[in-house]
Amino acid sequence: MRHFLSLLPLVALAFFAPVRASEPVSILSERPDWSDLTPFQKTITRAEFLRLLDTVYAPGGAWKECIDVGSLSARIHQPGQTGSDFQLEFAPNAAAAQPVPRYWTTPGTRKPVPGKPLAGYTIALDPGHLGGRWAQMEERWFKIGDAQPVMEGEMTWLAAQHLAERLTALGANVAMVRKGSEPVTFERPRTLRRVAKEELARAGITHPRDSYDGPSDPLKSQTIQWQSELLFYRVSEIRARAQRINENLRPDLVICLHCNAEEWGDPAHPLLTDKNHLHLLVNGNYHASELGLADVRHEMLLKLLSRSARVELPLSNRVAASLASATGLPPYEYHGGKALATGNAYVWTRNLLASRLYRCPVVYCEPYVMNSQTVFDRVQLGDYAGVKAIDGVERKSLYREYADAVAEGVAGYFAEKAK
Ligand SMILES: [Zn+2]
Repeated sequence: MRHFLSLLPLVALAFFAPVRASEPVSILSERPDWSDLTPFQKTITRAEFLRLLDTVYAPGGAWKECIDVGSLSARIHQPGQTGSDFQLEFAPNAAAAQPVPRYWTTPGTRKPVPGKPLAGYTIALDPGHLGGRWAQMEERWFKIGDAQPVMEGEMTWLAAQHLAERLTALGANVAMVRKGSEPVTFERPRTLRRVAKEELARAGITHPRDSYDGPSDPLKSQTIQWQSELLFYRVSEIRARAQRINENLRPDLVICLHCNAEEWGDPAHPLLTDKNHLHLLVNGNYHASELGLADVRHEMLLKLLSRSARVELPLSNRVAASLASATGLPPYEYHGGKALATGNAYVWTRNLLASRLYRCPVVYCEPYVMNSQTVFDRVQLGDYAGVKAIDGVERKSLYREYADAVAEGVAGYFAEKAK
């Protein structure tokens, strides 16, 4: 995650700019196919539909401009297409509800295998970001003097390798969403320059500079280079991963692995901080402005109707508990409405592209602040078996600690559900 870049107003504009005035969709998005919702007719009661909107997906009435909830059905407005609303019929009561159509298997519904709580389930691991030569472009990279550079995409990749091993031993079929440090998308910044230019023009920058002068350039976000890079790694890459997950891997669960960061400034002279924390994200907390985009509205409804939150919330609570116990990290607290608190201090709802597009339950982990002094020191120690003394405490390598805790939380939840 990055918290600092998302503060730039231009970025927000770039992500939510309309393609056509009559049918606003997110950047690099297709127009949604509303018939995708047809299999969900009569699968949800009115009360459950409202409860999920109000508590998980669109709290504070954010849904009210785009959905009319009647007594027997909901009318979902299709942005830019007045008179062609989608009508979702409610189940009269829970007992009479049609089964929820979904390809994924709910935890606890497969025949239990002793000692293998994940037997028969497919779990996709999504190590956040890219590594190697891409990490600097992504601005998930910093370096102090001759020390090893700290790269989120490499850290999540290492944690994912260990996690794959643990989950496989617990019986899961594990698939990696990315291979090594390379992107999944076929697009590259150079292929996205035209779109980047259009986005800048929409934001009022009609004669943008071609490239920026290094990562500290204060006006870099107004250049074609920076915008096309952002479209590549932040939008096109996530969309390509979603396509791979939804169409090829079709897992029962996706685990997104990230590390957090506090603002570090110049990556060649980064600020180190004492702050170090943990949180997990569950898809939700859509704002009214986001729901004005046809694709986002459609994806929120698919997410809600698939009832993935029934798995995501308790499973995230379980993984949060094991990560908190293994790392000793305090919960991260959001301010400003981007994320919404749940009943668990470590678990927040937030509308991220990845957790929205992946059409199965998602556990999205954000432990460790990469530019905290402790994490920096632990990255310098590398990956190792056994334990080493860190600040007087014997600890596993950061990557194994991360993987072991996630595996324990996931296995614990599946085992509990199988009882
Ligand atoms: Zn991240």
